[in-house]
Amino acid sequence: MSEPAEPSIFSRIIAREIPADIVYEDDHIIGFRDIAPQAPVHLLVVPKTDAYSNVAQLAANDPGLLAELVAVVDRLAAEHTGGEYRLVFNTGASAGQTVFHVHAHLLGGRLPEGTLGR
Ligand code: AMP
Repeated sequence: MSEPAEPSIFSRIIAREIPADIVYEDDHIIGFRDIAPQAPVHLLVVPKTDAYSNVAQLAANDPGLLAELVAVVDRLAAEHTGGEYRLVFNTGASAGQTVFHVHAHLLGGRLPEGTLGR
């Protein structure tokens, strides 16, 4: 797998090169508020490694880290959304992915009606 040409915006947040509203951090994972929220609660939960650009790569190469990520999502949802949430991994530009450093969108609160809504 080739290295990215330059650090992703999420790597720059992890390195504290650019600010973010960080709500969670451990040795492997960081969580922060999305800068353009699409729901009352919209958190990004991001593995610190930039080795994987999407969730399928993460699952294939480090399923334990994916399981950690989901556990962190569930814990953050308990704190921020009452435990109910939508978990989204955009995969590919045509699906809306803009940052090619794998990340989970944790959406909660009163979600807007939409294609996946009621
Ligand atoms: P995706 O479109 O799935 O790649 O998601 C990337 C997300 O990153 C979008 O929802 C953006 O709003 C969010 N984002 C981009 N830059 C920042 C930033 N500096 N701080 C927080 N969220 C960001």
